[in-house]
Formats: sequence, structure tokens, C-alpha cells
Amino acid sequence: MTKIRTRYAPSPTGKMHVGNLRSALYEFLIAKHAGGDFMLRIEDTDQERFVEGATEIIYRTMAKTGLIHDEGPDKDGGYGPYVQSERMKTGIYMKYAKELIDKGEAYYCFCDKERLASLKTEIVEGKEIMIYDKHCLHLSKEEVEANLAAGKPFVIRQNNPTEGTTTFHDELYGDITVNNSELDDMILIKSDGYPTYNFANVVDDHTMNITHVVRGNEYLSSSPKYVRLYEAFGWEVPVYVHLPLITDENHKKLSKRSGHSSFEDLIEQGFLTEAIVNYIALLGWSPEDNREIFSLDELIRDFDYRRISKSPAVFDIVKLRWMNGEYLKAMDLDVFYEMAEPYLKAALTKDLDLKKIAAMVKTRIEVFPDIAAQVDFFEELGEYDPAMYTHKKMKTNAESSLEVLTEVLPLLEEQEDYSNDALYQTLLGYVEKKGCKNGYVMWPIRTAVSGKQMTPAGATEIMEILGKDESLKRIRKGIELLQNA
Ligand code: GLU
Repeated sequence: MTKIRTRYAPSPTGKMHVGNLRSALYEFLIAKHAGGDFMLRIEDTDQERFVEGATEIIYRTMAKTGLIHDEGPDKDGGYGPYVQSERMKTGIYMKYAKELIDKGEAYYCFCDKERLASLKTEIVEGKEIMIYDKHCLHLSKEEVEANLAAGKPFVIRQNNPTEGTTTFHDELYGDITVNNSELDDMILIKSDGYPTYNFANVVDDHTMNITHVVRGNEYLSSSPKYVRLYEAFGWEVPVYVHLPLITDENHKKLSKRSGHSSFEDLIEQGFLTEAIVNYIALLGWSPEDNREIFSLDELIRDFDYRRISKSPAVFDIVKLRWMNGEYLKAMDLDVFYEMAEPYLKAALTKDLDLKKIAAMVKTRIEVFPDIAAQVDFFEELGEYDPAMYTHKKMKTNAESSLEVLTEVLPLLEEQEDYSNDALYQTLLGYVEKKGCKNGYVMWPIRTAVSGKQMTPAGATEIMEILGKDESLKRIRKGIELLQNA
């Protein structure tokens, strides 16, 4: 069996979108699952779409997500160069284009803009497409040579048949057959001498021995033309895997507007790299069981591309948040603290035990930015509604709470040790004397010291963090509030 070789072939046109990352991930997983090689190839022949810095974003993202390539611009594997603009300088694309011309599978086209503009157009998938009329295919050899000698600008076009059909196979979509009359004579070499993406991609995949091509299904409709190129050269067609569309919650194509369409957006929103990768793996693929949490190594072990679905994958930010929360829960506390610290420091300016607070919130947040809302009461007691003292299950109300707070206040004033344990013992003693349930006492105290319905910890843990002065101040405030209610 031949060794599986896959490639991620991004065009450096901006951020790394979720769809791009999914292609890279699936290519990586297919290769690694089979013990094959994964390579990175930069497709920068479209000079107009090139964005400065985009290549760096690709490198950075691949390294950060652990999608380590075996070959690429920075790691020669004997198939270089791995950047198309550099490959172009070796003359490879022109050489192969000329081979096609010799075979009658391509031809020089000297038509100028005016002539092209006069050609009829067709609407294909909502886009206006010019169908070239093969005018230059009929130029004689002498005319072509004279034009070339005169330095007339030209492009090289694929010569597609106008009759019959072309069939290609996709691993997920099966056999797809199109009428050749629908295949336009696409440009292979542009007038600036650069190959088009369509041509360079085929030449490179073949010359780099790529066995599996994984990409978004927006390329499905162009694939017959690629297959015709392979056949014209007499090359073996790679295995095609076209991936389902990724949509937003409204089933529209995931776009910048959704605010979380790129890896950088998600990192900025506080998601963990591992959770993003895990979540993206499931955008179109699922394992045999219902498992959802996968490390990259587990994905490598379990990833079978035949289980990729054809139906659109919905990018569900709520689900990603949940998954991120699972990663936070499983995280080592020290690592968590290190990552949470900037968020804690941004929310809390007072001298508080941030490590303890981190441990409290660790299991309660889904992303780091959730920290602020969880801990804000430590910084300052906000206004709160005395109705919060009433809790059906705890059997508390304003009256009972006022009584409890008034009775525990002197105990807490006397208390020197404000550690969680000591405070708890004191309050437990009071509970026993009173002969009531814990909640009957703890609920009003927690309400008074936090002013919140939900807190990341219980009354005594909160008091431990706040310290004696602040705790007492808040309990007195609670009493006052209840007295005036
Ligand atoms: N350069 C193409 C892109 O970024 C690659 C498509 C493919 O994988 O063939 O969309």
C-alpha cells in the first residue's frame, strides 16, 4: 500500500477561518491515523488576494493547535519548494501547461478584454460566468507563434470537450457526473505568468504525491475540470473528500458577521485551543459512539473519514461553550490559575486571595471571560433586593433572616479566626442550638455577604475571602436592609 500523504493548502488571504482549520485538522487526522505524512503548502499565486501577515497566522495557528506538518516551507521533505510563488520560479507550471498544449489539451488564448467582454455569459449557481467560445483554439500554429514573437499578452486555457460527460468520485458524495458542455475552458496560466489556483493545485498535488485531497464542498463543482486535467496528463486522480458546509445557528453559511468565524476570534473570546480543536473535529464528523470529548491523540486514533457526514454542520457557540467548560473542569488547578489570573486581576482590584477564588470559579465558568460576573461581588457589594432573603426550600423569609443575622452578628464579631473551617464550626454551633436546618442560617448569611442569588461558594468560604471587617460590614448592611424592608 502506498503511504498516505495529505496536505493543507491554504491561500494566505487573512484569518484562519473555522472551515480552514477543519480542513487542516481532517487532512492531519487522515494522514496521522494511517501513519502517513501531512504537509503544508502555501498557495499564494493569487497576488490580488494576498494579505500581508496571513502566512504567519497560518504557521502560528498550526503550531498552537498541534497540527504539526511533516513537510512544508520550513521543513523540507524532498518535494519542495512548498510555496507556490517559489515553485513558479522553477518553471514547473509553465512546463506542464506546455505539455498539455502539445497534447491538444490546452491552448494559448490572446483574446483581449474587449473581446472577452462581448462574449455571452451564463448564470451558474447565481454567479454570472463567461463561457469562452474557444476562439483561439482555432488559431493556426503560425498565428500563435507570430503572436508570441510579437509579445502579445496571452493566457493558457484548458481545452475541454464540449460533448460527452466527465465522472469523478468523491468519498462522501459518491460518483458525480457532469456534461462536458458545462465545463468552461478555464485559465491555467494567467497573463502575468502565474498559474491559476485551479492549475497549480493539480500540478502540485500530483508532483507532491498527495493521495487524499480534503477540502470544502465549494470546490465540488470545479472538480470535474481538475479530474480532466489529471486524465489529460495521464495521472492518477487522488481520493477526494469534500467536506460539508459549516453554517451558523440560523443555517446561513458561517461568516464574519457571526463574530466567531475564525480561530483568532474564538481565542480572543477566551476559548481554549484544545476545546476549539475538539469542537471543530465534530463539525461534520462523529465517532461510532456518542463520545464528544477528544484529545488530539484520541482523534488521531479514532478518526475515520468515512464517517464524515454530508449534511451541513451547524456551528453552535452554546455547545462550544459547554465543551470549553468541560476542559476547564478537567484542567489542573495551577494551570487554570495561571490562565485565569489576568481575568481575576481585571475584575478584582482589592487584595484578595485570588488562588482560592480561582478554585471556586473553576467548575462554574465556561470561558474565562465568565469570571468577571462570578466574582464581582467580592470587589463590591452591589444593590440587591431584600426579597432575595425569602427562599421556599430553605424556609427563610425577611423576618427569619433578620432574626438570624441579628443573632449571629455578635458571634461573628467575637470570632477571631476567619478561616472557612472555623467560621463553619461557629455557625454550626448556632444551628444546633437553634435546632434548625443549615440552610435556614446559611442562606441569609450568604445573601448578606454576597448580595447575589448565585455565588461560586458558600457563606463561610466567601467570608474567609472577604475577611472579618468586610464580612461584618455586609452583615450589618443586611440587617439594616431587612429592618427597613
Ligand atoms: N488554496 C485553497 C484554499 O485555500 C485550497 C483548496 C484545496 O485544499 O484544494 O481554499
